[in-house]
Amino acid sequence: MRYCRFFFENQTHYGAVEDRAGELWIVRLAAAPEEDLAYRLEHGRATSGSPESGGANFEPMPLSAASLLTPVTPSKIVCVGRNYRDHVKELGNELPTEPLLFFKPVSALLSPGGVVRMPAASARVDFEGELALVIGRRVRNLKEEDWRGAVRGFTLANDVTARDLQNRDDQWTRAKGFDSFCPAGPLVSDELDAEAGLTLETRVNGELRQRGSTLDFIFSIPKLLAYITAVMTLEPGDLVLTGTPSGVGPLKAGDCVEITIPGLGVLANSFQPETD
Ligand code: MG
Repeated sequence: MRYCRFFFENQTHYGAVEDRAGELWIVRLAAAPEEDLAYRLEHGRATSGSPESGGANFEPMPLSAASLLTPVTPSKIVCVGRNYRDHVKELGNELPTEPLLFFKPVSALLSPGGVVRMPAASARVDFEGELALVIGRRVRNLKEEDWRGAVRGFTLANDVTARDLQNRDDQWTRAKGFDSFCPAGPLVSDELDAEAGLTLETRVNGELRQRGSTLDFIFSIPKLLAYITAVMTLEPGDLVLTGTPSGVGPLKAGDCVEITIPGLGVLANSFQPETD
């Protein structure tokens, strides 16, 4: 299943995403596809979504016409640094012997199509195209062989980074944590075969800048999830950003970054200086 979250007539909806003759269409779901922390807090229960194409005031619409939101509302965003061999080399770092974890705050989330605000505090803002895992159930001390049952699906994310501040600070809360520094979406899909390798591409103003395969991961998805959940409980809807391939670089005002993995659509966001 593939789904998205979108805004329509002053309400937030979830929608199943279907391919109709090469174009993606949204069919509204009666409820959130699966238990998701915000949904649970709001409604006090878990639910499974079912298509509701005949819902009041709603006809299927092309994905391209929808006002898309981030497809999940996580309690936390756990990120992995230095997980592609070629990216470690380009930054001049040693190959890590265990995963390097950091957080982005949920206040950094930005919808597909939203504008990333380049903070005045930074002179160098970089893109980092990444595969993100969407957690499907509460999980702690996960065994590697059980990873697939813990993951609801996959989506795309941009681990936007103030590189100058990252190099200056001992830890990365500031460099990674500005508002709008975590675009995510547009879809969540469970239809990808991650173990066969997923090819991620990032374009800036249409020019290919990153092309990497998850087969180049230093730490596999099962290893990452086992490592993370030995530290903290992951909740439904939580995001795990799995690292970026080589090719990262600085952006200038007006640039548009597009990240894609076949089957996950395109995550596109433009960059502009903050104005307030
Ligand atoms: Mg990253």
